[in-house]
Amino acid sequence: MIIVLKPDSTDEQIAHILEKVEEMGFRHDLSRGEKRTLIGVIGEEDALREAPLRAIPGVEDVVPVLKPYKLASREFQDFDSVFDLGYGVKVGGGHLMMIAGPCAIEGKDILHEIAVASKEAGANVLRGGAFKPRTSPYSFQGMGEEGLQILQEVGHELQMPVITEVMDPRQVELIDRYTDIFQIGARNMQNFNLLKEVGSTNRPVVLKRGMSATVIDLLMSAEYILAHGNKQVILCERGIRSFDSSTRNLLDLAAVPNVKGLTHLPIIVDPSHATGRPDLIPSMSLASIAAGADGVHIETHCNPEIAKSDGPQALLPTQYADVMKQMKQMAELLGKTIADPVAVGS
Ligand code: PEP
Ligand code: MN
Repeated sequence: MIIVLKPDSTDEQIAHILEKVEEMGFRHDLSRGEKRTLIGVIGEEDALREAPLRAIPGVEDVVPVLKPYKLASREFQDFDSVFDLGYGVKVGGGHLMMIAGPCAIEGKDILHEIAVASKEAGANVLRGGAFKPRTSPYSFQGMGEEGLQILQEVGHELQMPVITEVMDPRQVELIDRYTDIFQIGARNMQNFNLLKEVGSTNRPVVLKRGMSATVIDLLMSAEYILAHGNKQVILCERGIRSFDSSTRNLLDLAAVPNVKGLTHLPIIVDPSHATGRPDLIPSMSLASIAAGADGVHIETHCNPEIAKSDGPQALLPTQYADVMKQMKQMAELLGKTIADPVAVGS
């Protein structure tokens, strides 16, 4: 349910409403928009229908949220969410997050080299996998905690927020110590215990669309994280399975405006995993910005031939710089901002 407050409701009345909602055994989520203040009330549906919410002073109306993804819905919040990612980088509401870096962290020197080149080219978030969800158990599984340490060090040195994948609820506490942003991969989009666990942190989470997941499935997974208290969910379209094997996956670009109509959460695009083809990544990156994406995620590597994971789809820093130049022009045309990370304290 959504409680619509009277325009002149006081802070005391709002505090009283929140208290009452808690007494009734429901959870609440306050959203102060420019025009109206709303309180989302979350709980068991029959109990909510019966609850005398309308009788509380300061309440103008109580309306049901018809969508199953309640907190994520535009009904609940009509303005775009904007999240701070660290070092002055934001995502949402016209701010673009540009993630670059290798599929897997392979060592300090190589990550540093890739990170410097990617940042120079315009990336504002550094990626690197320390725990890799490989299709084969015999493929490189990642450097684990040592990789996390390297990622954190390089992020600090370059003053860039970092993102890395978390695969298991038992890893959340460890990874939380090293990363600025969690990534939940396509294979774990419906790992509900993992969603609940990151939902109880306050770090931004990039939630990738599962390869057979509908847009509504994606929003329901986001709802899990939101319902556990973490508001900072960034959706990511990374391609879905199709019958056509000429690309790694099928990039569903229409999902971007589709999702944006349904939710206030930002959505970014990963053309690297969607296409698996460096020749297609530049055009699909530009198309993502044109479609309204709040960022683009691209795997980069200085020496793709020796990459331990996803080498064939990585862009060289020079190729990344070229596509970034065009994305910046496109962003400017659309009135969007790609911020360079700012040094802490400046
Ligand atoms: C990745 O980002 O390296 C990755 C494994 O992506 P996805 O979960 O989209 O396959
Ligand atoms: Mn990868």
